Amino acid sequence: MLHLPIYLDNNATTPMDPRVLEAMIPFFTKYFGNAASSSHTFGWQAEEAVKKAREQVAALINAEPNEIIFTSGATESDNLALKGIFEMYSAKENHFITVKTEHKAVLDSCLHLEKMGAEITFLPVKNDGLIDLTQLENSIKPTTVLISVMYANNEIGVLQPIKEISAIAKKHDTLLFSDATQAVGKIPVDVITDGIDLMSFSAHKMYGPKGVGALYVRRKNPRVRITGQIDGGGHERGIRSGTLNVPGIVGFGKACELCRNEMKKDAEKTRILRDKLENELLKIKGVEINGNRQQRLPNVSNLSFKNLNAADLMRSLGQKIALSSGSACTSATHQPSFVLKALGLSDEMALSSLRFGLGRFTTEEEIDFTTSQLRDVLVS
Ligand SMILES: *Cc1c(COP(=O)(O)O)cnc(C)c1O
Repeated sequence: MLHLPIYLDNNATTPMDPRVLEAMIPFFTKYFGNAASSSHTFGWQAEEAVKKAREQVAALINAEPNEIIFTSGATESDNLALKGIFEMYSAKENHFITVKTEHKAVLDSCLHLEKMGAEITFLPVKNDGLIDLTQLENSIKPTTVLISVMYANNEIGVLQPIKEISAIAKKHDTLLFSDATQAVGKIPVDVITDGIDLMSFSAHKMYGPKGVGALYVRRKNPRVRITGQIDGGGHERGIRSGTLNVPGIVGFGKACELCRNEMKKDAEKTRILRDKLENELLKIKGVEINGNRQQRLPNVSNLSFKNLNAADLMRSLGQKIALSSGSACTSATHQPSFVLKALGLSDEMALSSLRFGLGRFTTEEEIDFTTSQLRDVLVS
């Protein structure tokens, strides 16, 4: 049975897995303690639950539990990483390298740091969305403290070559930060083999609750130090104060455990469905894929539909199929996507593009329905 509307906007947020909700519920009511209350059993229960969640989160990315800082989400983690590094190291090194197609949480944090006196290089991308590694290496200076490159792009799904980037960062004794919000839980991410020093991710992009995320901060080889941006009770080793969101963190932990066990299966399923959708739509004249077709997340497809206004199309499908023209953060403004513009698309082509974001709960019936609806609109 097909249930409408169909949700194909899993890069904006994912539905929460019912198993995650089940794990969270007792922590709203029965086990409501403050994880920082060390004098009674209510506090100990909460602390124990956070400890377990921290292990589950760390295990998914091959980190140590004490390298995980819980935050309110990836926006906060991005701000904490960039501003925290700037504040810690700016007396000696204040040059940052990032990329024009990063998430706004990274770009706007970098613009803020620019006002504070940092020097920022915004690298362009090639027309497949990937950065040029030679250009990256050439832009490193003696004052470069951090390279910030996202793992997977939220609009086109393109995967930057993180291992090669980290090798370049190491060679020049520079730190590597990656916003991996779209990658963690979808594809294997390993902070050791990938050589990442700081990394952001968020529960609600991987079937967990909204309002909770993490920043991974490497503790050895090298030991990375950042200055906290929220002062208070000294929670999270003094890097991020504030009473911990225990139910959210428990849900995040459960979501990570589920992804660790099921990500391979989810990726295989979404890749087959994504390819089916894409291959059907590519048969229509004037349809093109945006971004590198191989180096890409398995669950995303960003397509341009020549001579078609994506906003109008979404409006006509809106009651049946939930889609997006790009990131949720910019879709309110009806501006052409800056990510697609960075790939070299014209305003017109960028405004003719749609992002299909599949997920764990997407079914073949939904993809077949979507294909036929789009074909009706496009071929008529
Ligand atoms: C969603 C997203 C964010 C923001 O995450 P929140 O947890 O919603 O703050 C940051 N970066 C990328 C790449 C994202 O996809």
